[in-house]
Amino acid sequence: MSYRSWLTAFGLWAILAAVAMAQAPCKVLIVDGQNGHKWAETTPVLKVLLEETKLFTVDVATSPPRGEDVSGFKPNFAAYDVVVSNYQGASWSEETQQALLDYVKGGGGLVIYHFACAAFPQWKEFNEMIGLGGWGRRNEKDGPYIRWRDGEIVRDMSPGRGGGHGPMQPFQLVIREPNHPITEGLPTKFMHVDDELYGWLRGPAKNLTVLATAFAPKDKGGSDEHEPLLFTVSYGKGRVFQNALGHTGKELKSVAFIVPFQRGVEWAATGKVSQKVPEDFPGPDKTSVRD
Ligand code: ZN
Repeated sequence: MSYRSWLTAFGLWAILAAVAMAQAPCKVLIVDGQNGHKWAETTPVLKVLLEETKLFTVDVATSPPRGEDVSGFKPNFAAYDVVVSNYQGASWSEETQQALLDYVKGGGGLVIYHFACAAFPQWKEFNEMIGLGGWGRRNEKDGPYIRWRDGEIVRDMSPGRGGGHGPMQPFQLVIREPNHPITEGLPTKFMHVDDELYGWLRGPAKNLTVLATAFAPKDKGGSDEHEPLLFTVSYGKGRVFQNALGHTGKELKSVAFIVPFQRGVEWAATGKVSQKVPEDFPGPDKTSVRD
């Protein structure tokens, strides 16, 4: 082979390698196995929602069931670009806790889906990492409520419960940070289907950016506040995203859940979002549901 042929061959190889790297899907790990919610129903739906973007490959790490010894549960977080938590249950071993912290601090992505925000109330660093959580006897000792009042974020230290919701109800999300990769290009207001409207979440809320809120009316069991439902936290070099929507598989058919979830997982993995806003994205008054 001549020197020139070698150069051409090497050039072609370099281009193909670059293309392959650009298109290499992100590796996602969904963690489940215990949850006060129907994790066995929702995890497969979350997996399909991610796979259908063609941007992700998805593995699932399922812990031993509630009441059994979880000390041997050691997912290899470091092998993934992003971890999606659908877990709420027994405390993990110190080794597994430390592995998750090291992974996110070192630049890993973490996505907290719905009731996963109720996990690990006693684990201080986890609560720093997720920003806001609920239930598990959380209250004012755990940090402020984060409120959107008169066009700005307020840290509300009023005493009271952490976490709650009224009966299932449809609600409108309002984007509060339109210049974030997850929300960029989305309509400012969009409707979600009947779901639990999480409220009164509390936590350290450091380095937290509220992306979208929904108003929780008192006459429907709410706080009469604009509740943060989509938000991010920066923790070390890592990116954390919470999507508080999606009680069961039924609510995961709402495009108001699907699109922020798909975009949030990509952002947590890479810091960017390449996904276009789909045609069926809901507007301010009408929900949009996929079969
Ligand atoms: Zn729920």
